[in-house]
Amino acid sequence: MNQIKATLIVALEHNTELSSSKKEEIRKILNGNLPPYEEILKKQTDEFNGESGELEGYECPICKNKGVIAGYDSKTLNHYFAECSCMKIRRTLRRIRESGLENQLRNCTFKSFETKEKFQKELKSIAMEFIGNEDAKGIYIGGQTGCGKTHICTAIAGQYIKQGKSVRYMTWRDDSVVLKSYANSPEYHDIISEFKQSDVLYIDDLFKQDEIKDADKKLAFEIIDYRIRNRLITIISSELYISDLIEIDEALAGRIIHLCGKYKIVIMRDRKKNYRLKGI
Ligand SMILES: [Zn+2]
Repeated sequence: MNQIKATLIVALEHNTELSSSKKEEIRKILNGNLPPYEEILKKQTDEFNGESGELEGYECPICKNKGVIAGYDSKTLNHYFAECSCMKIRRTLRRIRESGLENQLRNCTFKSFETKEKFQKELKSIAMEFIGNEDAKGIYIGGQTGCGKTHICTAIAGQYIKQGKSVRYMTWRDDSVVLKSYANSPEYHDIISEFKQSDVLYIDDLFKQDEIKDADKKLAFEIIDYRIRNRLITIISSELYISDLIEIDEALAGRIIHLCGKYKIVIMRDRKKNYRLKGI
């Protein structure tokens, strides 16, 4: 306690920025009306937590947009600062912005998904069931472009963001090229970790490329296998059917089948050019 007193005396004598009311408060403490140290700590942490910060993009009532919250340990009477839970959401929002998924997320929600046709109703209900099922860690939606698979996959990703999960968006066509180019460099581990370790990974248009090489299969396997072993959620869209995947790489197809369980759907056209769903 003497150390606190000494600090207060120094502050009183040398800190020219102290307001007169603060000075008065300090004098009271020095004159013996010293409030218990815990009370001082509480006051300091309350003051800190009451201040507004300058982080943008998400209004957080907990940290008031500072990203950190202060507290103290009532046993050791030590201050601590902890990261606020909103930082996870902020990082996700930033990644979404950087990934270019931002507009897509605004437009592609469950609410805005049209369900005029039977296959659309089914697709939506499967997607919603998937989100509600905590044991389900993977969903595969196959089929041609233009049938709504991007919309529904984005809506799923958006729901996870709302739940506070970190989401990484991966455009296979572009990101796989970047990742492969780093394959033998020391940065590879850091770069691929983002795709491996986020709570949710949305792989858009898996194997959308002219020629699927061994390096592509290896990359897809590395990411998907890691995510399965760590029980992380993976959303996969692709133009390929599961039977195509088996032909491309049996081991990888096996992992995807294992990952997605009953949530493997292909949207296909029948002879009358009507879309319908096919579970696999
Ligand atoms: Zn916060």
